Amino acid sequence: MKRANTLEQSIIDCTGCSRLLAHCKKVALEKKKKYSEWTYWGRPVPNFGSLDAQLIVVGLAPAAHGANRTGRMFTGDMSGVWLFRALHRAGFANQARSEEKGDGLELNNCLITVVCHCAPPDNKPTPKEIHTCEAFLKQTLELARRKKVILALGQIAWDAIWKEFVTQEKSPLKKIHFSHMQEVRLESGIVLLSSFHPSQQNTFTGRLSEQAFDEVFKRCRSLVDT
Ligand code: SF4
Repeated sequence: MKRANTLEQSIIDCTGCSRLLAHCKKVALEKKKKYSEWTYWGRPVPNFGSLDAQLIVVGLAPAAHGANRTGRMFTGDMSGVWLFRALHRAGFANQARSEEKGDGLELNNCLITVVCHCAPPDNKPTPKEIHTCEAFLKQTLELARRKKVILALGQIAWDAIWKEFVTQEKSPLKKIHFSHMQEVRLESGIVLLSSFHPSQQNTFTGRLSEQAFDEVFKRCRSLVDT
C-alpha cells in the first residue's frame, strides 16, 4: 500500500511539464459551462486501481473536462463511458457507471494508467512531454508485479509499452506496428494487447464498435483467467 501511495502522490505533485500544468490549471479556471459548479481537479491525475492487478490498461492522457475535472482516470467523459461499460461486462469493474469519485465504482483486478498524466491541449502531448512522463509508466509497470496482460488503448500507448517492455526484457522480438487486436506474448509470459482508443474520433466514425471493444475485454478476461 505504501508503494502505491508514494507513486500516486509523486504523480500528483509532479511539476515536470510546465506547458501541461498551465493548461490543466487554465481549463480548471475557465471550465465548461455545464460544469460551472464543479471545482476541477486541474493537476496530474494518478493511476486508478490496484498495483496488484493482473490487467493493466494504458491510455493516452486525461481529458480536459473528464479526468482533469474529476481527478479519476477516464471518469466524466465519453471514452470513460465506453471503457467502464466494457470493463464491467468483462467483470473487471463492479459497475458501468462512472461519473465522479465517490460514485461507488471499483475496479476488480485491473489498473488504469496513462502515457501522460496531465491533460494536453488538443489531446496531443509532445514527444518531449511523453518522454518526461515515461518514468511514471515505467514505475507503474515495475510495481505491478502480478501483471499478466497489458492493454494499450491507441498507438501512442502501444509504442510506449513496446519501448518499455521489449527493451526492458531485451526481447529479440521485431516491432509489431499498431493495429486493433494485436497480441504479443513476451518471454516472461506477459501478453501485450492493443485496441483502438475509445475516443469519439473512433467511436463516432464507427472505427471502433461497442461489440469490437467488448471483444477486446473478453480476450483480456480469458488471458487473465488462464
Ligand atoms: S505529464 Fe507527467 S511528467 Fe509531465 S507534469 Fe504531468 S505528471 Fe509530470
